[in-house]
Amino acid sequence: MAIVSGVSRCAAKGVLVKGGGALEMLARVKTVILDKTGTITDGRARLIEVKSRTDLDPLEVLRLAASLDQGSHHVIARALVAAARERGLRLAAPSGSREEAGSGVTGRIDGHEIAVGGWDFVSARIEETAFSREIREWIRRDGTVSVLAAKDGILAGAFLLADEVRPEAGSVLRRLREAGVDRIVLATGDRTELAESLQSFLGLDSVVAELKPEDKTRIVEAERSAGPVMMVGDGVNDAPALAAADVGVAMGARGAAASSEAADVVILVDRLDRLVSAISIAHRSRSIALQSVYMGMGLSVAGMFAAAFGYLTPVQGALLQEAIDVVAILNALRALGNPKRGWRKTTQLPHAELIQLEAEHRALMDVVDELRHTTERIQNLPKTEVRKELADLDALLRRRLLPHERQDDEELYPRLRSRAATPDALAGMSRAHMEIQRQVHSLTSLRKALGAHGPSPAQRYEIQRLLHGLEAITRLHFAQEQEIYRLLEDEQ
Ligand code: ADP
Ligand code: MG
Repeated sequence: MAIVSGVSRCAAKGVLVKGGGALEMLARVKTVILDKTGTITDGRARLIEVKSRTDLDPLEVLRLAASLDQGSHHVIARALVAAARERGLRLAAPSGSREEAGSGVTGRIDGHEIAVGGWDFVSARIEETAFSREIREWIRRDGTVSVLAAKDGILAGAFLLADEVRPEAGSVLRRLREAGVDRIVLATGDRTELAESLQSFLGLDSVVAELKPEDKTRIVEAERSAGPVMMVGDGVNDAPALAAADVGVAMGARGAAASSEAADVVILVDRLDRLVSAISIAHRSRSIALQSVYMGMGLSVAGMFAAAFGYLTPVQGALLQEAIDVVAILNALRALGNPKRGWRKTTQLPHAELIQLEAEHRALMDVVDELRHTTERIQNLPKTEVRKELADLDALLRRRLLPHERQDDEELYPRLRSRAATPDALAGMSRAHMEIQRQVHSLTSLRKALGAHGPSPAQRYEIQRLLHGLEAITRLHFAQEQEIYRLLEDEQ
């Protein structure tokens, strides 16, 4: 009863637990292995930059790669296809395409042999050229997701995508440890540098990168010696590892169907924090179940002694046994309830509003990306054009970023403060609004101080320093806000 109640409470939170055995195992997990793309990151990668061979148009390279990736369910493939559609490209139908799950795809588009995927996958299918050496250097330098495209055995271009770490990732990992998990490992098919940068960022115990699907299974097997292992993943390439783990958890909202099939638990909403909810529900259900068992057996044994010494007639004994069963069942039903209900009475942040706030941030990401692009452009721009470039950026920031921050500060924060128990956190966040405003202001002053003949080397340096700082603060500020919003969201 308690276990079934737990399964039903999980379902109410958007977590599908396939049976009581899976729920019991959730409560005993000691090691958690997480996949990166689509699990720790949200898998909604944005295309930031396309580099193409000088004889090819970047948009054409994007069209070829996206055409081939139409057939793939990989989150990065879907991001490429979406990026191509946004740019109004007409995708062609691929023929003879073959996907190596988690590595890349090969096939024919308009009569050309195309390969799309990570460095290892594509570099094995191309001849080395000056361009491929250049791209390799670029990939090593830049710490984001990169995808390559080859055309007829020669590297045609490379795509830089930003795949944001989920805003709730940090707090989820902290709460997993509080819930009794001893070891958290990242297992990814992606590059080592990317994985290692996440290790210190998230405080992971260990990271293993550049894994093939079968390697992920091996990691799961190896970790099982230390206690029950949970594997969390989203892709087709995670399916074998999900099946091998004591509990496999699939991120089902946007992940591949094969992973949901192989998993014991499927998170149907696109949120990692449901993992913690499921584990705490499992803990509570399991302890209530054990409590009911011991209580029922204890009372029965007491009744047996009473009957043995003649204090109960057989009929009384039979009735008492029924009563004991009912008590045990009623106790088990407690698992249906929410222990925190009533503890937090007011709605802090309704779900619909959270979604809207997150969408607002996503819509502003192109402004933040523009900070980065301008910084790069200013490096090589002729002196006379710097002024115009800065004027455009300044206008963009004042039109889109500053009004957003002002609105947060003047409307959203007071509203949250009046409902929430954590005014201090928001006070600190208001400080960031001031800082962003101050830096945009400095940028305007700097721009106005430029003479007609453009910036001196010192001024150019100062502008770049300012832009770097502004970009970093804004990104951090957005991430912190999103983490706080998710914590404030009404738990139901
Ligand atoms: P993770 O194990 O962290 O989820 P994956 O192994 O699924 O990561 O993917 C790793 C990398 O492989 C991606 O970042 C991407 O560069 C590349 N990749 C895999 N499949 C594809 C595809 N269909 N199209 C483009 N790139 C792909
Ligand atoms: Mg993945």
